[in-house]
Amino acid sequence: VQQLTAPLAQLSNIVDWYENARASGKRICGLFDVPVRIHESTDPVSLKAADGRVEYEDVSFAYEADERILDSISFTAEPGETIALVGPTGAGKSTVAKLLLRLYDADEGSVRIDGHDVQNVRLGDLRESVGYVSQGTVLFDGTVAENIRYGQFDASDEAVREAARAAEAHTFIEALSSGYDTRVGEQGVKLSGGQRQRIALARVILQDADIILLDEATASVDTKTEALIQRSLDRVTTDRTTVVIAHRLSTIKDADTILALDNGRIVERGSHEELLAEDGLYANLWRVQAGETDSLPNEFLEQASK
Ligand code: ADP
Repeated sequence: VQQLTAPLAQLSNIVDWYENARASGKRICGLFDVPVRIHESTDPVSLKAADGRVEYEDVSFAYEADERILDSISFTAEPGETIALVGPTGAGKSTVAKLLLRLYDADEGSVRIDGHDVQNVRLGDLRESVGYVSQGTVLFDGTVAENIRYGQFDASDEAVREAARAAEAHTFIEALSSGYDTRVGEQGVKLSGGQRQRIALARVILQDADIILLDEATASVDTKTEALIQRSLDRVTTDRTTVVIAHRLSTIKDADTILALDNGRIVERGSHEELLAEDGLYANLWRVQAGETDSLPNEFLEQASK
Protein backbone atom coordinates (compact mmCIF):
# COMPACT_ATOMS: atom_id res chain seq x y z
CA VAL A 1 0.00 0.00 0.00
CA GLN A 2 2.82 2.38 0.85
CA GLN A 3 4.46 1.88 -2.49
CA LEU A 4 1.24 2.72 -4.22
CA THR A 5 0.40 5.80 -2.21
CA ALA A 6 3.87 7.35 -2.36
CA PRO A 7 3.70 8.58 -5.96
CA LEU A 8 0.18 9.84 -5.36
CA ALA A 9 1.39 11.83 -2.42
CA GLN A 10 4.23 13.29 -4.48
CA LEU A 11 1.75 14.37 -7.07
CA SER A 12 -0.59 16.09 -4.71
CA ASN A 13 1.18 19.46 -4.78
CA ILE A 14 1.13 19.46 -8.53
CA VAL A 15 -2.47 18.32 -8.66
CA ASP A 16 -3.22 21.13 -6.27
CA TRP A 17 -1.75 23.76 -8.57
CA TYR A 18 -3.51 22.16 -11.48
CA GLU A 19 -6.85 22.23 -9.68
CA ASN A 20 -6.35 25.85 -8.73
CA ALA A 21 -5.47 26.79 -12.26
CA ARG A 22 -8.42 24.90 -13.66
CA ALA A 23 -10.82 26.32 -11.10
CA SER A 24 -9.81 29.84 -11.99
CA GLY A 25 -10.20 29.15 -15.71
CA LYS A 26 -6.56 29.56 -16.57
CA ARG A 27 -5.11 27.77 -19.53
CA ILE A 28 -3.44 24.51 -18.71
CA CYS A 29 -3.60 21.61 -21.13
CA GLY A 30 -3.16 18.67 -18.80
CA LEU A 31 -1.73 17.53 -15.55
CA PHE A 32 1.57 16.52 -17.06
CA ASP A 33 2.19 19.83 -18.79
CA VAL A 34 3.59 21.09 -15.54
CA PRO A 35 6.28 18.56 -14.60
CA VAL A 36 7.35 17.87 -18.18
CA ARG A 37 9.22 21.16 -18.44
CA ILE A 38 11.24 20.46 -15.31
CA HIS A 39 14.32 18.28 -15.38
CA GLU A 40 16.49 17.05 -12.56
CA SER A 41 20.00 18.40 -12.85
CA THR A 42 22.50 15.75 -13.98
CA ASP A 43 24.60 16.44 -10.88
CA PRO A 44 22.08 17.67 -8.30
CA VAL A 45 23.06 19.41 -5.07
CA SER A 46 21.70 17.91 -1.86
CA LEU A 47 19.75 20.23 0.41
CA LYS A 48 19.86 18.36 3.69
CA ALA A 49 19.61 20.53 6.82
CA ALA A 50 18.94 23.69 4.87
CA ASP A 51 19.19 27.08 6.62
CA GLY A 52 16.26 28.24 4.56
CA ARG A 53 17.59 31.40 2.92
CA VAL A 54 15.43 32.16 -0.12
CA GLU A 55 16.70 34.53 -2.79
CA TYR A 56 15.20 35.71 -6.04
CA GLU A 57 17.62 37.63 -8.21
CA ASP A 58 16.36 39.45 -11.30
CA VAL A 59 13.86 36.71 -12.01
CA SER A 60 11.81 37.03 -15.17
CA PHE A 61 9.33 34.51 -16.45
CA ALA A 62 6.75 33.99 -19.20
CA TYR A 63 4.31 31.10 -19.58
CA GLU A 64 4.14 31.93 -23.26
CA ALA A 65 6.96 33.43 -25.25
CA ASP A 66 5.69 36.95 -25.74
CA GLU A 67 3.85 37.44 -22.47
CA ARG A 68 6.15 38.40 -19.64
CA ILE A 69 4.48 37.54 -16.35
CA LEU A 70 7.34 38.27 -13.93
CA ASP A 71 9.73 41.10 -14.62
CA SER A 72 13.03 41.29 -12.74
CA ILE A 73 11.82 40.09 -9.34
CA SER A 74 14.48 40.36 -6.62
CA PHE A 75 14.16 39.78 -2.89
CA THR A 76 15.82 37.86 -0.09
CA ALA A 77 14.20 36.08 2.84
CA GLU A 78 16.81 35.41 5.52
CA PRO A 79 16.38 32.16 7.50
CA GLY A 80 13.30 32.46 9.69
CA GLU A 81 11.98 35.62 8.06
CA THR A 82 8.50 36.09 6.67
CA ILE A 83 8.02 37.68 3.28
CA ALA A 84 4.49 38.52 2.21
CA LEU A 85 3.39 38.90 -1.41
CA VAL A 86 0.38 41.12 -1.95
CA GLY A 87 -1.22 42.64 -5.00
CA PRO A 88 -4.24 42.42 -7.25
CA THR A 89 -5.37 39.17 -8.88
CA GLY A 90 -3.15 38.33 -11.82
CA ALA A 91 -0.18 40.33 -10.46
CA GLY A 92 2.02 37.21 -10.45
CA LYS A 93 2.05 36.15 -6.79
CA SER A 94 1.31 32.46 -7.45
CA THR A 95 3.81 32.43 -10.26
CA VAL A 96 6.53 33.58 -7.84
CA ALA A 97 5.55 30.65 -5.61
CA LYS A 98 5.55 28.12 -8.47
CA LEU A 99 9.15 28.99 -9.31
CA LEU A 100 10.20 28.19 -5.74
CA LEU A 101 8.52 24.78 -5.94
CA ARG A 102 10.05 24.40 -9.40
CA LEU A 103 6.77 23.74 -11.12
CA TYR A 104 8.32 26.04 -13.71
CA ASP A 105 11.83 27.40 -14.18
CA ALA A 106 12.75 31.07 -14.45
CA ASP A 107 13.60 32.30 -17.95
CA GLU A 108 16.11 34.80 -16.59
CA GLY A 109 17.75 35.32 -13.23
CA SER A 110 17.85 32.76 -10.45
CA VAL A 111 15.84 31.43 -7.56
CA ARG A 112 18.16 30.18 -4.83
CA ILE A 113 17.86 28.30 -1.56
CA ASP A 114 20.91 28.62 0.68
CA GLY A 115 22.80 29.97 -2.32
CA HIS A 116 21.96 27.02 -4.60
CA ASP A 117 19.97 27.68 -7.73
CA VAL A 118 16.84 25.53 -7.32
CA GLN A 119 17.47 24.18 -10.82
CA ASN A 120 20.57 22.44 -9.43
CA VAL A 121 18.95 21.08 -6.29
CA ARG A 122 17.82 17.47 -6.08
CA LEU A 123 14.06 17.60 -6.71
CA GLY A 124 13.22 15.29 -3.81
CA ASP A 125 15.18 17.53 -1.41
CA LEU A 126 13.44 20.59 -2.78
CA ARG A 127 10.00 19.08 -2.21
CA GLU A 128 11.03 18.14 1.32
CA SER A 129 12.50 21.53 2.15
CA VAL A 130 9.61 23.59 0.91
CA GLY A 131 6.31 22.84 2.59
CA TYR A 132 3.24 24.06 0.78
CA VAL A 133 0.09 24.93 2.72
CA SER A 134 -3.20 25.92 1.13
CA GLN A 135 -6.93 25.47 1.51
CA GLY A 136 -6.95 24.05 -1.99
CA THR A 137 -4.78 21.12 -0.90
CA VAL A 138 -6.05 17.98 -2.56
CA LEU A 139 -6.20 14.96 -0.29
CA PHE A 140 -5.51 11.62 -1.87
CA ASP A 141 -7.75 8.62 -1.31
CA GLY A 142 -6.67 7.15 1.95
CA THR A 143 -7.05 7.76 5.64
CA VAL A 144 -6.47 11.04 7.43
CA ALA A 145 -3.34 9.57 9.01
CA GLU A 146 -1.96 8.51 5.61
CA ASN A 147 -2.59 11.98 4.28
CA ILE A 148 -0.69 13.56 7.15
CA ARG A 149 2.17 11.09 6.72
CA TYR A 150 2.55 12.20 3.11
CA GLY A 151 6.11 11.18 2.21
CA GLN A 152 7.08 10.31 5.82
CA PHE A 153 5.81 6.75 5.89
CA ASP A 154 7.93 5.76 8.85
CA ALA A 155 6.42 8.40 11.16
CA SER A 156 4.84 6.87 14.25
CA ASP A 157 1.16 7.27 15.12
CA GLU A 158 2.20 9.48 18.01
CA ALA A 159 4.23 11.76 15.71
CA VAL A 160 1.22 12.04 13.39
CA ARG A 161 -1.01 13.01 16.32
CA GLU A 162 1.48 15.50 17.61
CA ALA A 163 1.70 17.17 14.21
CA ALA A 164 -2.10 17.26 14.02
CA ARG A 165 -2.27 18.84 17.47
CA ALA A 166 0.24 21.51 16.49
CA ALA A 167 -1.84 22.17 13.37
CA GLU A 168 -5.03 22.50 15.47
CA ALA A 169 -6.43 19.55 13.53
CA HIS A 170 -6.50 16.88 16.25
CA THR A 171 -9.90 17.83 17.69
CA PHE A 172 -11.82 17.76 14.42
CA ILE A 173 -10.05 14.57 13.32
CA GLU A 174 -11.04 12.80 16.55
CA ALA A 175 -14.63 13.86 15.93
CA LEU A 176 -14.70 12.14 12.49
CA SER A 177 -16.46 8.75 12.35
CA SER A 178 -13.25 6.71 12.51
CA GLY A 179 -10.86 9.38 13.76
CA TYR A 180 -7.45 9.14 12.13
CA ASP A 181 -8.58 6.07 10.17
CA THR A 182 -11.41 7.94 8.46
CA ARG A 183 -11.12 7.75 4.69
CA VAL A 184 -10.86 11.08 2.90
CA GLY A 185 -10.30 12.13 -0.70
CA GLU A 186 -12.64 11.45 -3.60
CA GLN A 187 -13.88 8.18 -2.13
CA GLY A 188 -14.21 9.36 1.43
CA VAL A 189 -15.45 12.08 3.71
CA LYS A 190 -15.39 15.55 2.21
CA LEU A 191 -13.50 18.00 4.36
CA SER A 192 -13.89 21.76 4.33
CA GLY A 193 -11.19 24.08 2.99
CA GLY A 194 -10.23 25.02 6.52
CA GLN A 195 -9.88 21.35 7.51
CA ARG A 196 -7.82 20.52 4.41
CA GLN A 197 -5.56 23.45 5.17
CA ARG A 198 -4.96 22.12 8.68
CA ILE A 199 -4.16 18.66 7.31
CA ALA A 200 -1.71 20.30 4.91
CA LEU A 201 -0.23 22.14 7.87
CA ALA A 202 0.10 18.93 9.88
CA ARG A 203 1.93 17.38 6.91
CA VAL A 204 4.37 20.24 6.77
CA ILE A 205 4.98 20.01 10.53
CA LEU A 206 5.68 16.29 10.27
CA GLN A 207 7.86 16.86 7.22
CA ASP A 208 9.72 19.52 9.23
CA ALA A 209 10.13 21.72 6.17
CA ASP A 210 12.67 24.55 6.48
CA ILE A 211 10.66 26.82 4.23
CA ILE A 212 6.91 27.30 4.26
CA LEU A 213 5.05 28.47 1.23
CA LEU A 214 1.67 29.58 2.40
CA ASP A 215 -1.19 30.35 0.09
CA GLU A 216 -3.44 32.05 2.55
CA ALA A 217 -7.07 31.27 3.15
CA THR A 218 -9.59 32.68 0.74
CA ALA A 219 -12.61 30.57 1.55
CA SER A 220 -14.48 31.73 4.60
CA VAL A 221 -14.28 29.82 7.84
CA ASP A 222 -15.95 30.80 11.08
CA THR A 223 -14.13 33.24 13.34
CA LYS A 224 -13.16 30.64 15.89
CA THR A 225 -11.64 28.31 13.28
CA GLU A 226 -9.86 31.25 11.71
CA ALA A 227 -8.32 32.14 15.05
CA LEU A 228 -7.22 28.51 15.56
CA ILE A 229 -5.67 28.31 12.10
CA GLN A 230 -3.91 31.63 12.59
CA ARG A 231 -2.53 30.52 15.94
CA SER A 232 -1.09 27.31 14.51
CA LEU A 233 0.29 29.13 11.47
CA ASP A 234 1.97 31.69 13.71
CA ARG A 235 3.56 28.89 15.69
CA VAL A 236 4.71 26.89 12.67
CA THR A 237 6.13 29.84 10.76
CA THR A 238 8.02 31.41 13.68
CA ASP A 239 11.33 29.63 13.13
CA ARG A 240 10.90 28.87 9.47
CA THR A 241 11.41 31.01 6.42
CA THR A 242 7.94 31.80 5.18
CA VAL A 243 6.74 33.12 1.87
CA VAL A 244 3.06 33.95 2.17
CA ILE A 245 0.67 34.85 -0.60
CA ALA A 246 -1.59 37.10 1.40
CA HIS A 247 -5.21 37.77 0.68
CA ARG A 248 -6.24 39.23 4.01
CA LEU A 249 -3.73 41.92 4.82
CA SER A 250 -4.54 41.86 8.53
CA THR A 251 -2.62 38.58 8.84
CA ILE A 252 0.67 39.87 7.41
CA LYS A 253 1.04 43.15 9.27
CA ASP A 254 4.00 41.72 11.15
CA ALA A 255 5.80 40.26 8.12
CA ASP A 256 9.48 41.25 7.96
CA THR A 257 8.99 42.49 4.42
CA ILE A 258 5.89 43.02 2.35
CA LEU A 259 6.28 43.03 -1.42
CA ALA A 260 3.50 44.65 -3.40
CA LEU A 261 3.29 43.17 -6.89
CA ASP A 262 1.55 44.69 -9.85
CA ASN A 263 1.80 43.42 -13.41
CA GLY A 264 4.70 41.12 -12.58
CA ARG A 265 6.85 43.79 -10.97
CA ILE A 266 7.59 44.62 -7.37
CA VAL A 267 6.24 48.13 -7.07
CA GLU A 268 6.66 48.61 -3.32
CA ARG A 269 8.59 46.89 -0.54
CA GLY A 270 8.81 47.49 3.18
CA SER A 271 7.11 46.90 6.49
CA HIS A 272 3.41 47.45 7.01
CA GLU A 273 4.03 50.90 8.54
CA GLU A 274 6.45 51.92 5.81
CA LEU A 275 4.04 50.94 3.07
CA LEU A 276 1.10 52.71 4.69
CA ALA A 277 3.28 55.83 4.88
CA GLU A 278 4.12 55.46 1.18
CA ASP A 279 0.42 55.74 0.46
CA GLY A 280 0.63 53.69 -2.73
CA LEU A 281 -0.74 50.31 -3.87
CA TYR A 282 -0.46 48.61 -0.47
CA ALA A 283 -2.11 51.48 1.38
CA ASN A 284 -4.88 51.40 -1.19
CA LEU A 285 -5.44 47.65 -0.82
CA TRP A 286 -5.44 48.11 2.93
CA ARG A 287 -8.11 50.81 2.73
CA VAL A 288 -10.24 48.76 0.36
CA GLN A 289 -10.13 45.78 2.71
CA ALA A 290 -10.96 47.95 5.67
CA GLY A 291 -13.93 49.39 3.78
CA GLU A 292 -15.19 46.04 2.55
CA THR A 293 -16.26 44.81 5.92
CA ASP A 294 -17.64 46.37 9.06
CA SER A 295 -16.72 43.50 11.33
CA LEU A 296 -13.00 44.13 11.57
CA PRO A 297 -11.23 44.51 14.88
CA ASN A 298 -10.82 48.14 15.99
CA GLU A 299 -7.09 47.94 15.73
CA PHE A 300 -7.44 47.14 12.01
CA LEU A 301 -9.62 50.20 11.43
CA GLU A 302 -7.33 52.45 13.44
CA GLN A 303 -4.35 51.35 11.38
CA ALA A 304 -6.24 51.86 8.16
CA SER A 305 -7.27 55.40 9.03
CA LYS A 306 -3.83 56.54 10.19
P1 ADP B 1 -1.80 36.07 -8.80
O1 ADP B 1 -1.38 34.88 -8.00
O2 ADP B 1 -1.17 37.34 -8.34
O3 ADP B 1 -3.29 36.19 -8.91
P2 ADP B 1 -0.78 34.55 -11.04
O4 ADP B 1 0.65 34.32 -10.77
O5 ADP B 1 -1.73 33.44 -10.78
O6 ADP B 1 -1.26 35.88 -10.29
O7 ADP B 1 -0.97 34.98 -12.56
C1 ADP B 1 -0.18 35.97 -13.18
C2 ADP B 1 -0.53 36.00 -14.67
O8 ADP B 1 -0.11 34.79 -15.27
C3 ADP B 1 -2.01 36.12 -14.95
O9 ADP B 1 -2.17 36.97 -16.07
C4 ADP B 1 -2.43 34.71 -15.30
O10 ADP B 1 -3.53 34.69 -16.17
C5 ADP B 1 -1.17 34.16 -15.95
N1 ADP B 1 -1.05 32.71 -15.80
C6 ADP B 1 -1.06 32.03 -14.62
N2 ADP B 1 -0.88 30.71 -14.83
C7 ADP B 1 -0.74 30.54 -16.17
C8 ADP B 1 -0.51 29.41 -17.03
N3 ADP B 1 -0.38 28.19 -16.52
N4 ADP B 1 -0.43 29.64 -18.37
C9 ADP B 1 -0.55 30.89 -18.87
N5 ADP B 1 -0.76 31.99 -18.13
C10 ADP B 1 -0.85 31.84 -16.80
